[in-house]
Amino acid sequence: MNADPSTRHFGTNAIHAGQQPDPSTGAVMTPIYQSSTYVQSAPGEHQGYEYSRVSNPTRTALEGNLAALEGATHGIAFASGVAGIDAIMKGLRPGDHVISTNDLYGGSFRLFTNVFEPFGIDFSFVDMSDLANVEDAITDDTAMIWVETPTNPLMRIVDIEAVCDIADTHGIDVTVDNTFATPYLQQPLDLGADMVLHSATKYLGGHSDIILGAVCTSSDEWAEKLRFQVKSAGASPGPMDCFLALRGTKTLHVRMDRHCDNARALALFLEEHPKVDTVLYPGLQSHPGHDIAAKQMSDFGGMIAFTLTDDSIDAAKTVLSNTDVFLLAESLGGVESLIEHPASMTHASIPAEERAKIGLTDSLIRVSVGIEDINDLRADLEQAIERV
Ligand code: PLP
Repeated sequence: MNADPSTRHFGTNAIHAGQQPDPSTGAVMTPIYQSSTYVQSAPGEHQGYEYSRVSNPTRTALEGNLAALEGATHGIAFASGVAGIDAIMKGLRPGDHVISTNDLYGGSFRLFTNVFEPFGIDFSFVDMSDLANVEDAITDDTAMIWVETPTNPLMRIVDIEAVCDIADTHGIDVTVDNTFATPYLQQPLDLGADMVLHSATKYLGGHSDIILGAVCTSSDEWAEKLRFQVKSAGASPGPMDCFLALRGTKTLHVRMDRHCDNARALALFLEEHPKVDTVLYPGLQSHPGHDIAAKQMSDFGGMIAFTLTDDSIDAAKTVLSNTDVFLLAESLGGVESLIEHPASMTHASIPAEERAKIGLTDSLIRVSVGIEDINDLRADLEQAIERV
């Protein structure tokens, strides 16, 4: 029942790791331990749980599950993905310098520049698809390299192993935001990263019904710092959300296969469409990061960004407002397909001039390809694009 996850395959760990039938009842599914506190037989004598801000049995099961999937020793769950990023940044000190991908989730950019820069942490945002930019940005104070790959929303690919090699020679920690790829497609710790960050709100949960984050690491030092943050700052997820995330990871491998198949088919369809200009999907041979993606990912994921030959914002709005199966909404990674406009939605917190610098145009459309029937997805995009 408690087999070593390293001896098992991904699909078995997805369903079983971190969990065992409830010892008091035999319940196969980990119960939702909806309790804030735990009885003590004498002061300080308890069964491992004292207060649910610090730890909770449903959360422990999820943390064990996520750690196993990422090949980590420790999993630490947070109330959201950004709460996990916040806790990592609080492990740094004023004067420290962070190098980050220049194309990244808008909320991460906002947290770095509006919250942590005023507290004295410096950030350099660089295009990491060119490794020389990483080397050039390193200073004596660089403490962390923050990698998103594939990046959100431009789908750029960063060579994780190469970045980790550079970081290693300078004693710099590397964190990879693995939200887009998931541990099923990409294992950053195996490639040399120190920490993996997840918005489990996305593919790990997989059903657009929770907000939850997680950090996985095999560094005891980082795990201790992060657990201290959970206890002290209190961004702990509730047991119901942990239960739903656990239910989500049980089907992660099955869902991801369908996300990848559907996205590949749609990317090929879009690439051939006369009204579509650029298709950004790392699974396409035409994608500049295709070879590196093929090296470090087992498949290419469910996210696509594209622009139309008519690059006006009105044309993009026509498509965004006329899909039927694809729902116009922020977020990604759920079983249902979503379409969105990064410039005004997920990435609006990045100033327009910064967006322009990295090529995030007002005409860019991002889709999270769900696991519906591919024929309906293709027909839906086709009829919306035809209206342009
Ligand atoms: N990282 C990436 C790549 C994301 O797309 C998001 C959210 O969209 C986050 C982190 C933040 O996660 P959450 O919304 O769970 O706080």
